[in-house]
Amino acid sequence: MLDINDLKVHFDTSKPLKRKTIVKAVNGINLSLAKGDALGLVGESGSGKSTIGKAILHLVPITSGSIKIDGFETNPLNRKTERELRRRAQMIFQDPHSALNPRLPILRSVAEPLVLHADLRGSELRAKVAELLETVGLPSQFLYRYPHELSGGQKQRVCIARAIALNPELLILDEPTSALDVSVQAQILEFLKELQTKFSLSFLFISHDLSVIRHLCNRVAVMYLGEIVEEGLTTDIFHSPKHPYTQALLNAVPFPQAKQPHREAPLTGDIPSPVDLPTGCNFYTRCPKMMKGTCETTSPILSELSESQKVACHLHS
Ligand code: SF4
Repeated sequence: MLDINDLKVHFDTSKPLKRKTIVKAVNGINLSLAKGDALGLVGESGSGKSTIGKAILHLVPITSGSIKIDGFETNPLNRKTERELRRRAQMIFQDPHSALNPRLPILRSVAEPLVLHADLRGSELRAKVAELLETVGLPSQFLYRYPHELSGGQKQRVCIARAIALNPELLILDEPTSALDVSVQAQILEFLKELQTKFSLSFLFISHDLSVIRHLCNRVAVMYLGEIVEEGLTTDIFHSPKHPYTQALLNAVPFPQAKQPHREAPLTGDIPSPVDLPTGCNFYTRCPKMMKGTCETTSPILSELSESQKVACHLHS
């Protein structure tokens, strides 16, 4: 369904007459996602997870690598591939308040992709938008309302309606509930889960919230400094995390009804700058299990531990 091969997203932020500065936001990742899978992408802020989501939709320039959606190569992007890409994949952003044009009624916001890509007009278009609103649990009276008349949860439902308008195969959800009141977060997450099952959608769910990922995703990929350090089935990762970074992330989250998988020392220090990556393992400056020599000089490769779990750490190579 989604096949990412050696994706790099580097940003040149050099200022005139100063030393060349390259931010390596995503640094050679491989990722695949089967139809109907929900893959959670986790990591601290600055790990590059949102950049991957944007790169899949070419909302940021790709430095190198290949991105295929259901066998369709999206890179390089031109008018034809862009049209096909927008039909196959859509993104739901963190903040529904800024994702909708305040001057447009809901009808026009949701209708936009249908006008551009499905050539719908008039009563046919209105009926389709009303049907989409119904799918996301909003009555047709909302067609003529403006964003300021809606609550945060209702606005996010409108964004979801717009995202599914063209029947995409892949939905990229970038922290879709983090800007909402706690009281509506659970409703939206439950709704997304139902939607995924109903339409057999593939989800790439970007979040720093591990309990949300655990609830919603059957697979997890853990990112650190632009690389994937561990990947596997949610059950394996949560019960038996192998990478010290994954262990530290899980250790920081209380799971009330679950046995804590590990009791490692909490993570200290900040994530290093993606402009100046450490030599060797990216995580060695913070790793409680760092081995002098090897970890400081040799970069570990993401390799298979079992059929369902991969890890990039010298402790497991
Ligand atoms: Fe820690 Fe070394 Fe493993 Fe990196 S390779 S996570 S520094 S033990």
